[in-house]
Amino acid sequence: MKFINEGAWKYLSVKLPILGAFLMLVLIPALQWALDFQVIPQQHHALIIGIIIPALAWIGKKIAQPELHQSTSSAQIQAFASVLPTTQKIFMLGVRSINNLKGVHPDLVKVVKRAIQISECDFTVIEGVRTAARQAELVKQGASQTKNSRHLTGHAVDLGAWVNGTVSWDWKYYYQIEKAMKQAAKELDIPIEWGGDWKTFKDGPHFQLPWGYK
Ligand SMILES: [Zn+2]
Repeated sequence: MKFINEGAWKYLSVKLPILGAFLMLVLIPALQWALDFQVIPQQHHALIIGIIIPALAWIGKKIAQPELHQSTSSAQIQAFASVLPTTQKIFMLGVRSINNLKGVHPDLVKVVKRAIQISECDFTVIEGVRTAARQAELVKQGASQTKNSRHLTGHAVDLGAWVNGTVSWDWKYYYQIEKAMKQAAKELDIPIEWGGDWKTFKDGPHFQLPWGYK
């Protein structure tokens, strides 16, 4: 009786590179994804980044193409990973943003929380609910034109583009945020208005639920 025939070796030689490719191109990006999305608790990150991912990469390399890979192929892994949708950069709201969303209409909060996930540009919630006193002050400064702002009732938010650790006022980022906010609103079927669409006194950071929206 013959347990291993010649064909089996041929089969194995195909199987092993597939396993190697799986380690490098599926398992490692999956781990990276889990890290990015905080699926894995923070205290395990160092172990995974420092030991597990390099080990998997090393094993994967050995199996996939033992002769070809003398040096690290992390550049190749990255090149491949960059085309995977799961490795797209995803932003999260910070503590200040969450705080500034307090008192804001829950539907608008939903839109903001969805938008941060799909936005090409990171953003921070600069302001949500505003007091009448502060609104009057802004009108006096010329920063706002109305005493009857949607901010007073929690129906508006101001989002600042967060670029290189600071708020940027460059309009190009506000078009990216606009895109994300409108996409999120569409997905959630919640109507929103963007200050950048206003004919006069364009307000790029400003998003609000329409007047009359309950
Ligand atoms: Zn505003």
